[in-house]
Amino acid sequence: VPSPEELKNLRDCFREMKQTCFILGASGETGKELLAEILRQQLFSRVTLIGRRKLNLEGKLYSNVSQELVDFEKLDEYAAAFQGHDVGFCCLGTTKAKAGAEGFVRVDRDYVERSAQLAKAGGCKHFVLQTTKGADSSSSFLYLRVKGETEARVQAVGFDRYSIFRPAVLLCDRQESRPAEWMTRKVLGVVAHIFPTALSIPTTTVARAMLNNVVMPGPSGQKVEVLENATIHALGQAK
Ligand code: NDP
Repeated sequence: VPSPEELKNLRDCFREMKQTCFILGASGETGKELLAEILRQQLFSRVTLIGRRKLNLEGKLYSNVSQELVDFEKLDEYAAAFQGHDVGFCCLGTTKAKAGAEGFVRVDRDYVERSAQLAKAGGCKHFVLQTTKGADSSSSFLYLRVKGETEARVQAVGFDRYSIFRPAVLLCDRQESRPAEWMTRKVLGVVAHIFPTALSIPTTTVARAMLNNVVMPGPSGQKVEVLENATIHALGQAK
């Protein structure tokens, strides 16, 4: 984890490169924190949100943010949206409860894989993917298996650099009602006081960790980095 001084230098160097990025899932809990943090740090010369609906972003703060509306079922028709971004962040996802098992696989694996392929074709060098703690393509749990498969399929795309974030339960003030998750979060909130890095992580920490990862050079000779929950905590502490 870089010191505050090192981090400041890394961010300054990164800004000078005037890189561009896109975010998939910017309307979600992690994605919105990521967008807010990107704008706070002014890290990119242009930020493109790629999503299925237009977000209401008004004001000077958003002057270098553009939005591309796409139909994820016909993503090939929207290849242009994926052109010319140096870094891609993916915080996309749904749940089995919302979309059914098939819909979940479609969004969390197929949409992500196709987006990654289009991004790579469009010149993206560093892809940052949010999956989950326990992601494992040989798991017998659908959720963990699909997340593991997504990780592998994106790896096969062959980005110059690929960072996989595997957070535990996300702590945030979710507006949508998910009672089981709400209850878990209440309990985990208590655990988090005693042992903060074990079972959960605030979305703000995930967002900061993603950006700290991006401004740091990747580990040498290693294209793929997997960041587990404790590492994300540590990296995301650095402000
Ligand atoms: P949210 O559920 O808050 O947001 C999901 C994003 O995906 C939104 O931008 C949403 O867009 C988009 N999306 C969902 N369905 C579709 C669809 N059919 N077509 C196009 N876009 C769609 O995400 P979180 O921040 O909670 O989670 C981000 C990732 O982290 C997910 O992959 C999740 O599985 C994973 N994760 C979650 C944990 C948790 O505790 N919740 C724990 C660990 C990992 P729209 O606003 O238009 O619906």
